[in-house]
Amino acid sequence: MRSLVYAANWKMHLPPAEARGFAARFLELTRPAEGRELWFFPPAVSLETTAAALNTRPDIRVGAQDVYWEPKGAFTGATSVALASGAGASGALVGHSERRHVFGETDAETGLKVRALLGAGMVPMLCVGEKLAEREAGQTEAVVRRQLHAGLEGLDAAALARVLIAYEPVWAIGTGRNATPPDAAVVHRSIRKDLAALGARGRLPVLYGGSVNKGNVLGLLAEEEVDGVLVGGASLDPEGW
Ligand code: PEP
Repeated sequence: MRSLVYAANWKMHLPPAEARGFAARFLELTRPAEGRELWFFPPAVSLETTAAALNTRPDIRVGAQDVYWEPKGAFTGATSVALASGAGASGALVGHSERRHVFGETDAETGLKVRALLGAGMVPMLCVGEKLAEREAGQTEAVVRRQLHAGLEGLDAAALARVLIAYEPVWAIGTGRNATPPDAAVVHRSIRKDLAALGARGRLPVLYGGSVNKGNVLGLLAEEEVDGVLVGGASLDPEGW
């Protein structure tokens, strides 16, 4: 049976006091399960609080929503890999669609972030996905391939084995409109081919994200190609887990 990864992107929600409350309730409600790994990506100001509460469970890991690749210096507003690590993070999202399309992050920058994280022994969760116009133009696989190459090209198999991928079609994020399970599976299959071409050995976890909720998660996970989910809005309620 394949392992599953459930990841929560809290975006710009849950300040430290609320994150502490979430964690306490979550720990009351859930137990570790074999073959299931959980990731929480709180906002930077809540990273330390969340990590202190949730790193107590071996099946849970906490990560930053973004990192900057420079180790230190005059980069106001940025969080280095070392700062995130010092706050208890063991990884970070890279290239989330909101970083790419709201803040203008480039493909090349995602590559620098992936390398900075791997260099510090941390886990990058590289997010890839096409915009609606790209899907409608039949460019989905090509866009995702470009993003994967920019993020991962040149890494050896050992480094690639430490990477998680999240396929998140931009048109499905926060819109209530998600890809059907077979649609997601087609792109996941293409991602696996791209990863093999990049030199990955074995099976890297490829998660699906985009308006995942209690009502559609089982259908998505029923696809053999889907190794887990990255959830935004629906992850904020500990009772919903
Ligand atoms: C996300 O933020 O990565 C995401 C998938 O958000 P939502 O679940 O709200 O669409």
